[in-house]
Amino acid sequence: MPTPPTYADVEKAAERIEGQAHRTPVLTSRRVDAEVGARLYFKCENLQRMGAFKFRGAFNALSRFDPDQRRAGVVAFSSGNHAQAVALSAGILGIPATILMPRDAPPAKLAATRGYGAEVVEFDRYTEDREALARAVADGRGATLLPPYDHPDIIAGQGTATRELFTEVGELDALFVPLGGGGLLAGATLAARALSPTCRVYGVEPEAGDDVRQSLEKGSIVHIPAPRTIADGAQTQHVGVLPFEILRGGPGVGVDAVLTATDDELVAAMRVFAATMKMVVEPTGCLGFAAARRTAAELAGQRVGVVVSGGNVDIARYAALLGDS
Ligand SMILES: *Cc1c(COP(=O)(O)O)cnc(C)c1O
Repeated sequence: MPTPPTYADVEKAAERIEGQAHRTPVLTSRRVDAEVGARLYFKCENLQRMGAFKFRGAFNALSRFDPDQRRAGVVAFSSGNHAQAVALSAGILGIPATILMPRDAPPAKLAATRGYGAEVVEFDRYTEDREALARAVADGRGATLLPPYDHPDIIAGQGTATRELFTEVGELDALFVPLGGGGLLAGATLAARALSPTCRVYGVEPEAGDDVRQSLEKGSIVHIPAPRTIADGAQTQHVGVLPFEILRGGPGVGVDAVLTATDDELVAAMRVFAATMKMVVEPTGCLGFAAARRTAAELAGQRVGVVVSGGNVDIARYAALLGDS
């Protein structure tokens, strides 16, 4: 197992992605502050290139490929934002990319990934083991398999989002971060511990799949069946080994706690983003804000950071989710 990255790696990643990733805005809203009773700073990665923070990690990792790796190319498997992040980053760097995507992925996502210049290999998610398939494709071509979160360069790249937040607004009392496989949260934790040591760091996962909360409690990684939730970017079945090493340190070192949000709370947060802040945020991107709203009583008068992780949602589905309630 490679060693987990440190904050120094986050700083190096920030240099590598400079001029390629957007320095996304940090937005505030008096109306939202009044509703929650705290001062909220939203780091808007829904406005990042390709619509999510995952561009940061993918670009950082791919820009570290040596000439042989660049020639042989990259392979990734994902139905979501990691696929598009790898496809776009590889296109920019001139690296051939092959992305394995489930045959029943939304046609718009298949088209977007092809549109970035990647070759898409479709597979049947019910009968085929995508990890084994990806490894076979990578081995056949001598290409490098790039995982979505369990990789030091991915974690360091994702940490640049929170680094930008702290360099822009200064120290905070609490930080809320969406949590799937843990790459984003692990990077955020490294940045928070370096730049705002007393800040409480919370990961937020879907209530239907609280495997990371269970894992931290147990002290080892818990595997669960794919959770049923509208937060499709956080339907992971277990946290990554490297993120877990960073998160498990406890208050002041790792994360302070892992919280959860229900689908109804995600929709309610999505509605506030739309109605008050005029922002389209995908359900997974609402995890942090949903937990901040739920725990508002403990945040009274504090300065609170919220990572808004992505905005990629099929617009008809978005309308249906908002129309439902
Ligand atoms: C991937 C993703 C997450 C979860 O990130 P991890 O690094 O897997 O924890 C959260 N939000 C969005 C929008 C994502 O695409």
